[in-house]
Amino acid sequence: MEITCPYCGFKGKPGDFYYMYESVLYIADSKTLPEERSRPILVICPVCKNGFFLESPYKPLIDRLKERGQ
Ligand SMILES: [Zn+2]
Repeated sequence: MEITCPYCGFKGKPGDFYYMYESVLYIADSKTLPEERSRPILVICPVCKNGFFLESPYKPLIDRLKERGQ
């Protein structure tokens, strides 16, 4: 599998890129609650340092709408 940077066109293996995953912990009564939002992983290009998503963050929503036949 090869990833192509949409900004500078750099092509590399998944191991050549950096990854950032944003996460938030909610604490209630000293317990952590799982986050309800699912967040895509941000891929960062090692050449131009721009971040991009492999998959649209709206894809799960679009899939859900399609399942409902809308
Ligand atoms: Zn790039």
